[in-house]
Amino acid sequence: MYWNKDLETLDRGRLESLQLQRLNATLEKASRAPFYKTLLSRDGFRGISSLSELSRLPFTSKADLRQAFPYGFLAVPLESVVRLHSSSGTTGNPTVIYHTKEDIDDWQDLVARCMYMAGVRKTDVFQNMMGYGLFTGGIGFHYGAEKLGAMTIPIGPGNSKRQIWFMREFGTTVIHVLPSYALRLATHVQEMGLDPRRDLKLRIAFVGAEPHTEETRRRIEETWGIKAYNSYGLSEMCGPGVAFECPEQSGMHIWEDHFCVEVVDPETGKPVPEGECGELVLTSITRTGTPLLRYRTRDLTRIIPGRCPCGRTHRRIDRILGRSDDMMIINGVNIFPQQIEQTLMRIPGIGANYLIEIHEENFMDKLHVSVEMSADAFQGTLSGVEGLHGRVLAALKEETGVTPVVKLLEGGSLPAAEGKAVRVVDLRPHGKREC
Ligand code: ADP
Ligand code: ZN
Repeated sequence: MYWNKDLETLDRGRLESLQLQRLNATLEKASRAPFYKTLLSRDGFRGISSLSELSRLPFTSKADLRQAFPYGFLAVPLESVVRLHSSSGTTGNPTVIYHTKEDIDDWQDLVARCMYMAGVRKTDVFQNMMGYGLFTGGIGFHYGAEKLGAMTIPIGPGNSKRQIWFMREFGTTVIHVLPSYALRLATHVQEMGLDPRRDLKLRIAFVGAEPHTEETRRRIEETWGIKAYNSYGLSEMCGPGVAFECPEQSGMHIWEDHFCVEVVDPETGKPVPEGECGELVLTSITRTGTPLLRYRTRDLTRIIPGRCPCGRTHRRIDRILGRSDDMMIINGVNIFPQQIEQTLMRIPGIGANYLIEIHEENFMDKLHVSVEMSADAFQGTLSGVEGLHGRVLAALKEETGVTPVVKLLEGGSLPAAEGKAVRVVDLRPHGKREC
């Protein structure tokens, strides 16, 4: 049941002293990186004596990482680095994270811990449908699964026919997939006349890398007849393996033997009371190549109070509600894309893909929601489609407080991203970037 029982169930007191010890060792290491050097070698800075003192240190932001490109956060001699991962950096410098051999070993072990926790064993066949390369999602799971001992198929994303062929031929039992792709792939399975419960051996899907709602998870579980577990991570902390759901499926255990966790008000930077939603701030306490202190993830979540019945002592975070920077402001009304997804996924007849566009019409913001219909809804009568249109419009209006323009489309007609789904396109002249 546990990959590492001692560490996963360490009592809170011992877990916190381990954190303090690792945190001080990290401060020492981080002081060798140019960015932290001045801060941490100030006169009189002698490390910290309790975890609560962590909040006295300044935050590190994505902008800091960009500005310090390429080596400002590197804390070891370059010869100790065995790999780098980098974000796409479509605007400005990319962010670069360096890994030593030790970092890679720890990361593999964390991913193996997560997969084992959800029930993967060495007898499983694991098909990894995430992108390989600079993106950490594919490679991170790949090495974790190999460490666990499962046969790993490094297929990468896309090419649904080939995915299904591999799943059938090799009896794939576990997949790692973007939630948006899990739903699209299921429609291909159905189009091929296959029944996942009868024709496949699949039992577990790991879904993550992009925000998705509980409704989407349920839909994935029902369409495939499997269990879907939420997987959270970010390249700055390693990649996947930072927080993960256990069989209870009620929040993701965030591995506190590797990360110190804070949740702060995104506006003021002050801690929010336990259980309240805010921005997740993480400090890596085992990483050596690029240790990061109080990193502002921009991801919004909350700590779930209380112990998990599974026996693990590491605290749980709620599913990511969105990013502090993906909130849409439509004529002054704040709306998160997740609210729209949640509403759509509850409506029968709605298919796998949707796209939100924000237009400016007569100097007013206008929300456009295009959504695909499921195959049976599309083949229904015209009045059936009109009825569905009315239901979608009313539900979105009720949820968001604004009246969108709703377009119902045939399945497969919206652009399908191979990587993370692009859900929001802001077309206003002052529009924000895509998110
Ligand atoms: P980028 O920031 O360029 O997208 P990453 O691949 O490191 O690079 O993505 C990390 C981000 O992906 C997280 O900060 C978070 O916003 C999102 N993410 C990762 N896993 C999840 C998840 N399970 N649920 C919601 N969002 C997630
Ligand atoms: Zn648990």
